[in-house]
Amino acid sequence: MSRSRPTAAPVPPAPVLPSPVLPGPVPPTPVPPAAARPATAPPAPAPPAAAAPAARRETALGLKRRARRISRLLADAHPDAHCELDHADPLQLAVATILSAQCTDERVNAVTPALFARYRTAADYAAADRAEVEELIRPTGFFRNKTDSLLRLGQALVERHGGEVPRTLEALVRLPGIGRKTANVILGNAFGVPGLTVDTHFQRLAARRWGWTDETDPVKIEHAVGALVERRDWTMLSHRIIFHGRRVCQARKPACGACLLAALCPAYGAGPTAPAAAAKLLKGPRARELAALAGVDPDLVPAPAGAGRADPAAPADPAAPTDPAAPAGPAAAVGG
Ligand code: SF4
Repeated sequence: MSRSRPTAAPVPPAPVLPSPVLPGPVPPTPVPPAAARPATAPPAPAPPAAAAPAARRETALGLKRRARRISRLLADAHPDAHCELDHADPLQLAVATILSAQCTDERVNAVTPALFARYRTAADYAAADRAEVEELIRPTGFFRNKTDSLLRLGQALVERHGGEVPRTLEALVRLPGIGRKTANVILGNAFGVPGLTVDTHFQRLAARRWGWTDETDPVKIEHAVGALVERRDWTMLSHRIIFHGRRVCQARKPACGACLLAALCPAYGAGPTAPAAAAKLLKGPRARELAALAGVDPDLVPAPAGAGRADPAAPADPAAPTDPAAPAGPAAAVGG
């Protein structure tokens, strides 16, 4: 006869607490900043979900503090953040931003020199030959619609604003081809008026990964994030988020194990957490610096193609493409 073993009373599963900042299950606990971990250390095991700090209800004040800490760290990580569309005046920026819909900034920057040399004023666009403009901007895609927007923009600027690009959101969004996001790009970068550019990177990082808001509508995200950070920081924060989204926290494989925001990010673990694997995902001319800021050995970052012929410490050419695989520019994804 077999002896039955005493069994312990069943233990109920640990409760999964609702997170105010992220929908769905509680994410893994953020680990200490990578700076505190050796570069080759294995990823820290995640403790039970119920013990995770990210699972605790975050107060409004806590959220604001976390958002501002992330904002400061982004300033450290991306001192080179800027509008990546080449332009010399508000009209050129408006034109480049229209062209950037569903197109990379690099491609836009490749076609605008010839376009800007041919058309210098709003009146030039108003009187432009459609077929000629189409041919010049064809590489940016959707060239017929974009040509239509450029010609109508020129006409509207001449008729309503004396050929000048207006300086207010209200006037800008009434112009052909210019939505709220494009208007904020123009205000922030051509006129120094703070604006948040809620593009595809901004939505992915600020809302879905950092949990700064549950909103999904770009305008509501803009207002929610605007309430978290100082107005004077809006324009540069937008650039830094876009830089981080292109170089570290990419859509498919975020470099969590080489990200200096790890300890503040509820989505830590969405990508590889092992430093060696994560360092390979870093992009751009400052990938080594980004690794070092996260406490990861910069030598884990693969050498760029052609390394050895050029001085790796030389400053990057700001006009050079930094991320050929980068998603479309500011006007992409959510339109205008
Ligand atoms: S890379 Fe990972 S840790 Fe960094 S912000 Fe993105 S999801 Fe968070």
